[in-house]
Order: sequence, then C-alpha cells, then structure tokens
Amino acid sequence: MAAPKRAGIVPFFRARCPRCGEGDVFLNKVLSFKKFSDTHEECPKCGLKFEPETGFFVGAMYWTYALLVVLSVVMSVLLYKMDLFDEAVYIIPALIIFLLPWVFRTGRLLMLYVVYPAMYKKLFFGSTDEDDYS
Ligand SMILES: [Zn+2]
Repeated sequence: MAAPKRAGIVPFFRARCPRCGEGDVFLNKVLSFKKFSDTHEECPKCGLKFEPETGFFVGAMYWTYALLVVLSVVMSVLLYKMDLFDEAVYIIPALIIFLLPWVFRTGRLLMLYVVYPAMYKKLFFGSTDEDDYS
C-alpha cells in the first residue's frame, strides 16, 4: 500500500492544497480588494473537497484566536523591550487589524493541514484498509 500523500510546510505558506500541494486554496490574493476569505470548494488540481462538512471552517476561529493571543503576547514583550509599552494599546490593535487577512487565512489553512487529515481520513487520503472502523 502506498503511503498516504500529504503536502509539507512550503505549500502551507503558499496557501496550496494540503494533499497535493499544488492547487490554490483561496480564490483571491491576500492583498486583493476582493474578498480575501473566499475559498475554492475543491482543489483545482486533485479535487480534494476543502469543506468536508458544513461549518468545517468554524473551527478556524479557534486557530485564529490562538494566533492572535500569541501575536499579542509577542508584540507586548517586544514593545516592552523597546520601551514603547504605553503605546502598545494603539500599536497592537492596529497591527491586528492590518494582519487580520493573513491570520484569518492561516486559521483556515491550519484546519486544512492539521484537523482535516486527522478527522476525515477517508476523504483526505482516499479509501484505505485502516479506515474500516465503521
Ligand atoms: Zn490538491
């Protein structure tokens, strides 16, 4: 049996399909003035359905939240070290608003790269012997 394929870290940062690593996940570029959040229904290259069930991407909120907490803590420490901690109350929210398209998309990509292969093995890897747990 061939080992299940899974894309690596480079396709993750290029916002490519988590299975084949080639098809774009998002319809538009992150800095386009069109909607940055629009996602292909399936991979244009390998046909992987990006939303295995309705509401799958709701889970991306948790990733986004975690990323924003990490970002806020790191920025707080950096601003404190730079003796700019009083300005942190303006700088951090401004940075979060500026980075929101990237953070939002990273949350969705983490759902596709981490949660999808773990929870939807049959859809992700195709039918294999070890999936017969029904
Ligand atoms: Zn693909």
